[in-house]
Amino acid sequence: MFATLSDRLTSTFKNLRAKGRLSEADIDATIREIRRALLDADVAVPVVRQFTGAVRERALSSEVSGALNPAQQVVKVVNDELVAILGGQTRVLAFAKQPPTVIMLAGLQGAGKTTLAGKLALWLREQGHTPLLVAADLQRPNAVTQLQVVGERAGVPVHAPHPGNQGADDVLPAGADPVAVARAGLETARQKQYDVVIVDTAGRLGVDAELMAQASDIRDAVDPDEVLFVVDAMIGQDAVTTAQAFADGVGFTGVVLSKLDGDARGGAALSIASVTGRPIMFASTGEKLTDFEVFHPDRMASRILD
Ligand code: GDP
Repeated sequence: MFATLSDRLTSTFKNLRAKGRLSEADIDATIREIRRALLDADVAVPVVRQFTGAVRERALSSEVSGALNPAQQVVKVVNDELVAILGGQTRVLAFAKQPPTVIMLAGLQGAGKTTLAGKLALWLREQGHTPLLVAADLQRPNAVTQLQVVGERAGVPVHAPHPGNQGADDVLPAGADPVAVARAGLETARQKQYDVVIVDTAGRLGVDAELMAQASDIRDAVDPDEVLFVVDAMIGQDAVTTAQAFADGVGFTGVVLSKLDGDARGGAALSIASVTGRPIMFASTGEKLTDFEVFHPDRMASRILD
């Protein structure tokens, strides 16, 4: 995903290394190149401004000017600041003191929530947890079936509004209420002693008030330990506006970047942690249930600057 950005930054640093001692003009030229590379990669403008400001300040400080190898120091500064905009430290899931831990997923339709629910469930199961998936996405008739398929693949049970399939025409029973389903799912987990509940919620094609209200109602009903905002890294600049809308409308504790295997420019996804102040916690990198990883800001920064 970040190939172009990575190439541009790498070649900027190569030019810098050829110089030996660095003047203020060299540093400014480098920062201009970095700024252009970030903007071309779709990194949000305020994030670029903050990033280049921090890099410039540190690069002009004694930290770099007195260094034996100034170019390497500049690379280090850029690396540190990249880690910072990606959220700093790796953030691990917050488990409830008293199980079950409740994890709610939110995001637009097609963001990859249902797939992520399966990936997360499998990952938790492999660590010895006993997750339960809850199908509270009743907007798309297929969503419940899709979660059941994903649950079966992950070897994780699914609490759905009603057992079995939904009939030939995939019509949900009238009046099926996602809030009630979420609440009942949590109750099932308590009774059967599942230690993590993953609640899949409905998305729309775009942000709308009804979607936000429903997600907020589910959040209030299940009082989640984590609300993970799942966002398709391929949607470019819209990723940032959508993240902001969910941050304001529902609130979330962490971000999951999905479709990082795609070839979009990726900079918008890199901006989300900085814009919303919420860490990126996981990355989804394909359609298979194992295409999933814990997001480490430092490793991602190294990958980009490699
Ligand atoms: P939801 O509407 O948010 O529940 O999204 P889905 O989980 O149904 O995903 C939408 C589409 O994206 C499906 O075709 C998934 O197979 C696909 N998808 C989900 N995550 C990834 C990913 O990380 N990489 C790729 N390439 N495709 C993904």
